[in-house]
Amino acid sequence: MSTEATEKDILRGGQFLVRETACEDVFTLEDISEEQKMMRDSTKEFVDREIWAHWERFEQKDYAFTEACMRKAGELGLLGVAVPEAYDGLGMGFVSTMLVCDYISGATGSFSTAFGAHTGIGTMPITLYGNEEQKKKYVPKLASGEWFGAYCLTEPGAGSDANSGKTKAVLSEDGKSYKISGQKMWISNAGFCSVFIVFARIEDDKNITGFIVENDPSNGISLGDEEKKLGIHSSSTRQVFFSDTVVPVENMLSERGNGFKIAMNALNVGRIKLAGACLDAQRRVIDESIKYAKERVQFKTPIIDFGAIKAKLALMATNVYVDESASYRAAKNIEDRIAMREAAGNSHQEAELKGVEEYAIECSILKVAVSEDVQQTTDEGIQIFGGMGFSADTPMESAWRDARISRIYEGTNEINRMLSVGMLVKKAMKGHVDFLGPATAVGEELVGIPSFETPDYSETLSEEKALLAKLKKVFLMVSGAAVQKYGPQLEEHQQLLMSAADILIEIYMSESAILRTEKNAKRFGVESQSTQIAMTQLYLFNAVDIIQTKAKEAIVSFAEGDEQRMMLMGLKRFTKYQNQPNVIALRNQIAADLEENGEYRFDG
Ligand SMILES: Cc1cc2nc3c(=O)[nH]c(=O)nc-3n(C[C@H](O)[C@H](O)[C@H](O)COP(=O)(O)OP(=O)(O)OC[C@H]3O[C@@H](n4cnc5c(N)ncnc54)[C@H](O)[C@@H]3O)c2cc1C
Repeated sequence: MSTEATEKDILRGGQFLVRETACEDVFTLEDISEEQKMMRDSTKEFVDREIWAHWERFEQKDYAFTEACMRKAGELGLLGVAVPEAYDGLGMGFVSTMLVCDYISGATGSFSTAFGAHTGIGTMPITLYGNEEQKKKYVPKLASGEWFGAYCLTEPGAGSDANSGKTKAVLSEDGKSYKISGQKMWISNAGFCSVFIVFARIEDDKNITGFIVENDPSNGISLGDEEKKLGIHSSSTRQVFFSDTVVPVENMLSERGNGFKIAMNALNVGRIKLAGACLDAQRRVIDESIKYAKERVQFKTPIIDFGAIKAKLALMATNVYVDESASYRAAKNIEDRIAMREAAGNSHQEAELKGVEEYAIECSILKVAVSEDVQQTTDEGIQIFGGMGFSADTPMESAWRDARISRIYEGTNEINRMLSVGMLVKKAMKGHVDFLGPATAVGEELVGIPSFETPDYSETLSEEKALLAKLKKVFLMVSGAAVQKYGPQLEEHQQLLMSAADILIEIYMSESAILRTEKNAKRFGVESQSTQIAMTQLYLFNAVDIIQTKAKEAIVSFAEGDEQRMMLMGLKRFTKYQNQPNVIALRNQIAADLEENGEYRFDG
């Protein structure tokens, strides 16, 4: 999409629920430019050479090795892809930064966490909220890897409730500096960073304030021991103690009391990037699993020939295909919105902030969906390897352990589920997206007479598209009725919110896959996309199941009598296939493609 794209053309955050998107308007991995391909390939090459070749070292708590790899990434410019050229970065667009994040993260969670913490939450707050002096002073060093960054938000008593931290910042009598005192925990990169982004409270302010704090042990900064963790063994995670640490007033980020906003916006970027960081990890697990399943013979048969194994491989490939579809779709939406705002006169900084904020719902959806998929994919990877999967001698075991953290950091999946629905409701209330009209229309449809026509679904994915449109009605029906019933008290009904979030997630992920496959089928031919069509259909089939269960659970929790009966009938109508897909055949088809090609080949 060009920079002339107008507000009207670009889908707003959350609007996917109520506006149909033409497949030509979604960005897919197949759309990346030659320059982006080169960037991707050099990232892959770096990972294969420097990281994957030494994955065992990352299991030996070799923090120095992680740091050395980070420095090498810095020398290649990989730490500065998202940093504007004015601050010695590569100034690449959002999609390119996602690509780097994706392909740099596949080999081990230790390195991907170090990379993500540094380039995302460690650097971003300065590029997004820093003033000119701060950016000039810190960002070039962070972009080159001369310095590393860390982000100190979490405290022993303030995790998900991040604005409740007790760390204090006290202004000196001469008004020239703050003294920061407090305890931060779970700080990634703490062991080797030069700069901390620290959140602290001034007096009894309602909201915390952000500061840039240089790591100087002689300035009241000390570290706890390395945490003993389930996974990401070579990612440095330590407590950081500040004791009367003197920070010049000019190191305050943005304004007093703006820290919570900074923290949340940095996390929005972090969430979509975390989704990106869970993609190549899945591809590698799939490729290793295919290789193993072809070689491992039991009952005189390579295990890849067993239906049970085929089903696993098909599920794993489907997960990552759908995850790629949604991640790159949202990344391009963000990139376009940034370009649109810049064209309208916003500074790059302001444009980037607002661009990402607009898609905060999608960022939360992606964080949850992809982090749960990588868990499932690595879990099935272990299962395919059998006993060898449980052994630390194969990379399956560490991939599974490393994947686990993704559901916890950058806001737990529970928090992100609640956020996604909460933000949607807020957007509706503010009139940013019109949900009321479509929700009312669904209400009217429920009491109307259903159509008995038999639609023509001969066109590729036409039945899936029609079904998706109906699934959106399920969300509108359930959430519309819940909002009506509970009003502002809805947030107290967490299990209902969780169910609504699961429906929302399945809709966004299914739609993204359908649109990507449709677009590619139209331009490359249906034949060339037959496996992708199978993956899209398989995903949707499972999504319909999830949506049915979650919607039923929600409806019976708050509706009774006729209202309940009407909504359950609506649910049945909105989740009905005209032609049930043969999912066993779909899985066999996907597995056959993986076996024949010996790898997951759909990322271009
Ligand atoms: C390896 C690792 C690296 C990390 N890196 C960093 C870092 O670099 N910088 C940083 O600042 N932090 C970092 N963190 C902290 C991380 O962001 C927090 O662990 C996370 O936000 C959850 O906070 P918590 O651990 O206090 O869990 P809690 O907030 O205590 O949550 C415990 C459980 O309760 C649930 N819960 C909490 N509140 C609610 C609610 N309102 N409704 C429903 N359920 C709720 C949660 O979802 C979770 O399941 C890291 C953590 C780890 C483990």
